[in-house]
This record gives sequence, structure tokens and C-alpha cells, in this order.
Amino acid sequence: MSLNSRMSSNPTGPVGLREIVDSIRAYIELDRASGISEFFTSKPNTQYTIRNTSDLESLKHEILNCKRCNLYKTRHNIVLGAGSPKAELMFIGEAPGEDEDLQGLPFVGRAGQLLTKIIEAMGLKRSDIYIANILKCRPPNNRPPEPSEIKECEDILKKQIDIIKPKVICTLGKFASQTLLRTEITISNLRGNFKEYNGIKLMPTFHPAYLLRNPNDKKLVWDDMKKIMKELNLKCPSSPK
Ligand code: URA
Repeated sequence: MSLNSRMSSNPTGPVGLREIVDSIRAYIELDRASGISEFFTSKPNTQYTIRNTSDLESLKHEILNCKRCNLYKTRHNIVLGAGSPKAELMFIGEAPGEDEDLQGLPFVGRAGQLLTKIIEAMGLKRSDIYIANILKCRPPNNRPPEPSEIKECEDILKKQIDIIKPKVICTLGKFASQTLLRTEITISNLRGNFKEYNGIKLMPTFHPAYLLRNPNDKKLVWDDMKKIMKELNLKCPSSPK
């Protein structure tokens, strides 16, 4: 008998609270007796399955009140991404920092300025490419993303990639590279060679924040960018300062 029919079959009139509670209890006991235990152990069901959204504006709208993880408690803005929805090249970083959290845009702080320089040295503008992060909300004090946060946020990024369909993805730093490639290999060992992500060429490289601390490695990143330019048939301008 369904819950509805149980509730409406009361010949004496409207169903009382006790009867509803008894019905629910009976269902739970039935589930338990049939070996269904998930009801008791899983997290409360949230609404967060990304719908079959086909554009970035709808996706942005859909995640406006995202509370999948606790980062919503401290964020000022969700930083979905920025750039062309038709970009052939997509950069993916780690998570918004303070500037990004305040402005709602990715890579606008010091590391972002260096990334902009790299993009321009490739003969491109930020509006030609698309920039996103693994996490869409800033971790407090810029601490590293936690595995549970990455897990909760990953299908938003997957949806972005699905919509944009870039020819090349460039992952910036360890978190983005290891997350998309499902590996624990260090970024020093990953960078410099194309890998594959769901049929898309993926170039892991150092994060611009790392380059600010280790400027000698800028030439390695430039080598990686030249490989990307070759893949995209872009003319190779001079290396950045
Ligand atoms: N670092 C990142 O990984 N992403 C940003 O958006 C800014 C800094």
C-alpha cells in the first residue's frame, strides 16, 4: 500500500500527525527488513545534480546558491570562470584567491597578472580563451582544496568543459593536473607532455603562483606554451620577459 493510499484511506477523516509518523516508520522498517540501509546512512539529498545546461549563463544561474561544501559560508562570490564560451584553449587553475573572491573573476590577482602576460605572449587575449578553476569558491586563507571540496565541485567544471569543448586544456599546477588526470604524479614529472582528458589534449604546467616564487622555471612553462601553440596552429611570438 502506498503512503498516499494509507493516508487517504482513513475513513474517519483527515489524517493525524501520529498516523503519518506511523506510516513513515512502517516504510522505514520495511526498507530495513529488505536490507536497504542507505536511507539511514547517506547525506540528506541535495538538489545538486547539474542539469542538462547547454550554456555558461544558465550554469552560472544554476549554481548561484551552491552549498555543496562549506566554502559557501566564507565566500563573497562564486567564481565560475571567464572568457570565450567558444575558446579552443582553456586554462584550469586551483581555486579563487582573495582578489578573485572579491571580484568574482578568476586569476585577477598577482598570479593572474602573470597568467595574463603568458596569454598575451602567446599572441592571445584573455577574451580569446577560457579560464576556470577546480574549485569555484575560495578556501579560507587560501589553504589547499580538500578532497571532499574537489569532489563536490568537479561536475561543475566537467559541465564547463562539456559546454566549451576546448581543443586544448592547460592545467595550472598540481591540484588541477592531478585532479583531471586522476594521478598522484608530481607536477614536475607531469608537465611538458600532452596527456588526454576525455579525448581532449591536456598540457599540465606549473601554476603562475609557483612561478612568482621560482622565476627560473618560467622558461619551462614557456616551452609548454609553445607546444600548445603548435597544437593550435598559432604563430609563435617571442618569449615573455
Ligand atoms: N590561483 C588560482 O588557482 N586561481 C585563481 O583564480 C587565482 C589564483
